[in-house]
Amino acid sequence: MTVRIVGGGLAGSEAAWQAASAGVPVTLYEMRPVRPTAVHKTDRLAELVCSNSFRGDKLDNAVGLLKEEMRRLDSLVMRAAEASRVPAGAALAVDRERFAETITQTLSAHPLITIVREEITTIPESSEEHPVIVATGPLTSEALSAKLAAIVGQAHLYFYDAISPIVLAETIDRSKVFRQSRWDRSFRTTVRLPPSRAERASASLASASGGGGKPDTPDEKAAGDSDSGSVRLQPDPLSCGIDDGEGDYLNCPLTRDEYDAFYRALVEAESATVHDFDKERFFEGCLPIEVMAHRGPDTLRFGPMKPVGLVDPRTGREPYAAVQLRQDNLAGDHFSLVGFQTQIKWGDQARVLRMIPGLEAAEFVRFGMVHRNTYVNGPAVLSETWQVRAHPTLFFAGQMSGVEGYVESAASGLLAGLNAAALAKGEPASSPPRTTAIGALAYYVSHANPAHYEPSNITFGIIQALDSTGIGRGKAPRGKKERNLALSERALADLVAWMGSDLDFLARGDRAEKIEI
Ligand SMILES: Cc1cc2nc3c(=O)[nH]c(=O)nc-3n(C[C@H](O)[C@H](O)[C@H](O)COP(=O)(O)OP(=O)(O)OC[C@H]3O[C@@H](n4cnc5c(N)ncnc54)[C@H](O)[C@@H]3O)c2cc1C
Repeated sequence: MTVRIVGGGLAGSEAAWQAASAGVPVTLYEMRPVRPTAVHKTDRLAELVCSNSFRGDKLDNAVGLLKEEMRRLDSLVMRAAEASRVPAGAALAVDRERFAETITQTLSAHPLITIVREEITTIPESSEEHPVIVATGPLTSEALSAKLAAIVGQAHLYFYDAISPIVLAETIDRSKVFRQSRWDRSFRTTVRLPPSRAERASASLASASGGGGKPDTPDEKAAGDSDSGSVRLQPDPLSCGIDDGEGDYLNCPLTRDEYDAFYRALVEAESATVHDFDKERFFEGCLPIEVMAHRGPDTLRFGPMKPVGLVDPRTGREPYAAVQLRQDNLAGDHFSLVGFQTQIKWGDQARVLRMIPGLEAAEFVRFGMVHRNTYVNGPAVLSETWQVRAHPTLFFAGQMSGVEGYVESAASGLLAGLNAAALAKGEPASSPPRTTAIGALAYYVSHANPAHYEPSNITFGIIQALDSTGIGRGKAPRGKKERNLALSERALADLVAWMGSDLDFLARGDRAEKIEI
């Protein structure tokens, strides 16, 4: 028995870890560095190609819940993220190099994992004893894309995303910017390793038996406590690493005149490839700023340049608009422009972005750019176990399976890895219930309307509603935050129950020996 995995990104790396942890030998094929992609810069596994943020990390936030579920399922991506955490308030952001290096080293050292650096150009033969997972991501190589198209037919789609620029910290004019998080929700985190599985299991049981699903580490408590009494806008459910009001940011304040001038320059700037903003198909949560600007003069002020919750210490007032810069590496010498993905030509891009107060002399470590995003029409192709319906020994995982985001990609890889291992061991594949974030994501990808399918981030909206099941037999709370916490509490309890019943090998404790990272 073996599991073969094509693609060593977030999904493929997590799948390899899960299958190997279940005691099944894994061969992981990664084409870099033999064949590079348009956006990856290194040969490391699980390289983060854009933002260094895994987004919110609290249980009143759906991606916070998804991450917590993954921790309880012993996710390697979550362990590596904790081990490379950088300050980002209540969000989980990482030093991207340390993160990818941790994953690469852990998988390379695993006795059951063989890593082969090779481009796979045809989908490998699979059987029950030797299942295959394809997790080649949004930049799946051309040759393999053609084979995927043959398997999934017309449901194989292309669409476009764009990434944010990064500036060199020393070129930011600190006299013009101020460090602050929205509503002063900043807190500093310390790097810490996640608790052992035994510790997590007892935490799961505690929360399942009425612990309220509350986080239990000091940092998480600090994050939770900072909520009390604060007014908070709900973060955009679909966002490309955008500030959700929790973080240590450098803020570039703009007056009305500065904003108007910036806006005019932006809409006049020449775009690299796309001129017809209506025809091109961008993911709504990751729109280039110039596409947003073309929707109206105030769209940016209500999007990535929103000033709410910020107070400029020099004026004592909320600025007219603001651009936020987030630390992008542990050394603190790179800052990315939050939510500022763009495809403007590099010369124009530098000129327009240098109109932002504080960035007049900015040097760009990386410019924003547009990229292709390849994904299949999940509901037409997949079952909720991430198996291809027409070929159940073949799995798709990650972004190309029709999810959106780092965490979601890793979560799908987690489940695909567990299920491929189960198949190889002669056990049935399964998915957690729709009351959990990971189960809801699997259900969405396999059951949404195929006629209008768009990849989705995890949101509470796709998790089974409370009123249909009750929580702990109670009624759904009225407040949004309380309702979200209640959903999380139920999710974690149901996950524990699923782990006990369906994940036999977890329940029996016969996972391969735990490997520390
Ligand atoms: C430019 C860009 C920016 C993005 N920005 C963000 C962001 O800021 N935040 C966010 O949450 N999500 C972002 N995403 C979306 C998504 O979360 C990431 O793409 C994520 O890396 C997806 O994980 P994955 O494992 O599916 O794919 P990847 O991490 O891309 O991994 C796929 C791997 O497969 C390899 N591969 C491809 N074809 C072959 C082949 N034929 N044979 C062998 N190996 C192959 C690739 O080299 C790659 O290592 C972005 C996507 C792109 C493309």
